[in-house]
Amino acid sequence: MKYNFGAGPSILPQEVFKQAAEAVLNFNNTGLSILEISHRAPEFEAVVDEILQLVKDLLNIPEGYSILLLQGGASLQFSMVPMNILAEGQTASYLDSGVWSSKAIKEAKLFGNVNIVASSKEANYTYVPRDYEIPADSAYFHVTSNNTIFGTELFDFPKTDVPIVSDMSSDIFSRVLNIADFGLIYAGAQKNMGPAGLTLVIVKDDLIGKSGRKLPSMLDYKIHADNKSLYNTPAVFSIYASLLNLRWLKAKGGVAQIEKENIAKSEALYAEIDRNPLFKGPCNVEDRSRMNVCFVMENPELDKPFLKFAQERGMVGIKGHRSVGGFRASIYNALPITAVHALIDVMQEFADNNA
Ligand code: PLP
Repeated sequence: MKYNFGAGPSILPQEVFKQAAEAVLNFNNTGLSILEISHRAPEFEAVVDEILQLVKDLLNIPEGYSILLLQGGASLQFSMVPMNILAEGQTASYLDSGVWSSKAIKEAKLFGNVNIVASSKEANYTYVPRDYEIPADSAYFHVTSNNTIFGTELFDFPKTDVPIVSDMSSDIFSRVLNIADFGLIYAGAQKNMGPAGLTLVIVKDDLIGKSGRKLPSMLDYKIHADNKSLYNTPAVFSIYASLLNLRWLKAKGGVAQIEKENIAKSEALYAEIDRNPLFKGPCNVEDRSRMNVCFVMENPELDKPFLKFAQERGMVGIKGHRSVGGFRASIYNALPITAVHALIDVMQEFADNNA
């Protein structure tokens, strides 16, 4: 038995992988593969209609927002956001809470002024800064809601009249959100939504075109919104597999239900990290991510032996990111609590053997 704690890409439920694989051979009994039917065919338009409706329902998206199914990953959004909504000469404010934030900042500087309101870089991003002000004339305020590499998550978004832009690549669909609090949300699909290749953008309509900049069609939110994300050939397989995954999430009880499960999974694992004398969590307790649980050994000499011990017991993908070291257990929506209990058992057994 293998338990996949990898940070991605794309940890989906087994039944979703199976349905997606079936559709590669025979999509909806058409006798054709999902990969070969025309993306302009009524069957595929129905897929797009259904996924847009599911995203809207699952996240409770109010009127006045467009949902875009794009390509280029979250990394392209680091540029598309300022291109589309930051006018030349204007300033955008950014919170620097990790590597992905700093990459977003680097790209935004190409299109306007960037004001970094606070940074936790000096503490190797072990916390999410809380003490800062957002200048009222900022075009937008950008945050990374879950810092995949460092294992911190932003739970309380600031109250501000400045539109909030959030990179939710690694926590979208994991918790209930009040979408009206945001101007724009973007996410590479490949954690909780579906296979890599699809990028979800949820944007308030009155922000579209705000920069006044002339843009290449493929980089213009308006073109994609006007064409229901079918301006060019979309990521057909990623969209279809994401649809299957969102159907799975809906059938489970939706985002509120999965949030409960995510809280239970992360609390169980952090409780073991805090209880077990061999391990400790490097991040500020209030900022601990429910998606990416980072932990290190009190005695780093035990890193390699623990990794080997865990791997032999079926734990996959728990080695920490190279910029943090130690371990990271990514516990996205699809990972069942039984996997978390299996990891806890391994940590306990290792501690007993090394007492
Ligand atoms: N932002 C966050 C929070 C991420 O976790 C990642 C990738 O893991 C990215 C951005 C980059 O996403 P992509 O590879 O889709 O460009």
